[in-house]
Amino acid sequence: MSVDSAKQAIVEAIDSLRDEILATSRHLHDHPELSGEEVESAKLLASRAEKQGFAVEHDIAGLPTAFRALYGKPGSGPRIAFLAEYDALPVVGHGCGHNIIGTVSTYAAIGLAAAAKAGHFKGEVALFGTPAEETFGGKINMLEAGVFDGVSAALMCHPGIYTEVAYSSLACISVVVEFFGKSAHAAASPWKGINALDAMIQLFVTMDQRRKQLPPTAKSPGVILKGGERANMVPDYAKGQFSLRGKDKEESEKVLECLIACGQAAAQSTGARFEWHMDGNPYFDMRPDPKLADEFREVWKDLGGDTPIEKPVPHGSLDIANLSHRFPCLHPSIKITNDETVGGHTHEFAAATVSPLAEEQILRAAKALAVTARKIEL
Ligand SMILES: [Zn+2]
Ligand SMILES: [Zn+2]
Repeated sequence: MSVDSAKQAIVEAIDSLRDEILATSRHLHDHPELSGEEVESAKLLASRAEKQGFAVEHDIAGLPTAFRALYGKPGSGPRIAFLAEYDALPVVGHGCGHNIIGTVSTYAAIGLAAAAKAGHFKGEVALFGTPAEETFGGKINMLEAGVFDGVSAALMCHPGIYTEVAYSSLACISVVVEFFGKSAHAAASPWKGINALDAMIQLFVTMDQRRKQLPPTAKSPGVILKGGERANMVPDYAKGQFSLRGKDKEESEKVLECLIACGQAAAQSTGARFEWHMDGNPYFDMRPDPKLADEFREVWKDLGGDTPIEKPVPHGSLDIANLSHRFPCLHPSIKITNDETVGGHTHEFAAATVSPLAEEQILRAAKALAVTARKIEL
């Protein structure tokens, strides 16, 4: 049972499925589904695994678009989890490239199962369909429901403009804020009203000022979702959303404390009532497993991959981060475009996910994740 024979079995399995793999990524790209609504995407990926002998269960942890696909006998060795994401974004479709994530994880699992079939891996292969990474973080619901109990390590990768192995991320708390005021005629008798939009604007201004006193890793971007109906009516209701980030959970909680203080101050000075609540699960900071990262770096090079960057670059937040506080996790970024001006969450990035370079990297990444996972057993 050598790693070389396992690698050979994985590479052969993935190469033999080349057309199906690329068609899967393209199909997801062409049929984007929003977070929590990824019905067809989940079905497609689960059916690919089922065809290769995995036992599939849909609708787990109370999430209709989550699934679990298992291969191998429980207790026969390590339980390796591959995490498939497949949610898209409004307007820009697969502008975050989750069509690639879903495809790579599914075929990494199928590749490792092929090594097991050939007798070169002893253990369990688990493919988890994890919905809504872009909104509430389905992995965190699944973690809390015990879906990942017994997992030895979890692997996935994310497309990007760089290949980066030990990918870290910021902790993030998403918050909805609301101000409740009183409507009145904005010209004839504005003094009879309480302006909820004024309170909201004040919150944005003071939050921006407070941020200057926070560490550079603390961030608080926000949007106003509702700010009134007409200019001639004093807005009696305003609603906004903030994503509060920090280098770790504690720092993101500090940013939340600031937001609450600023919201209360805005309420007091305008007479409006302030309410806030969390929107989805808090995301922790990502702690990449150093051993898995070292293995992956070596495997990636061996498979002819591009040279990973070693200097850290700024990142957003990930729901796999919460899992990385419980068991070893790997989430490298894989370069899919040579154009460094292409940003994530854009039409341009969505187009890059089906480029020839991306397709070459999809095949390499599926092999690399499976071979890295096989090495964990040693
Ligand atoms: Zn994203
Ligand atoms: Zn993403």
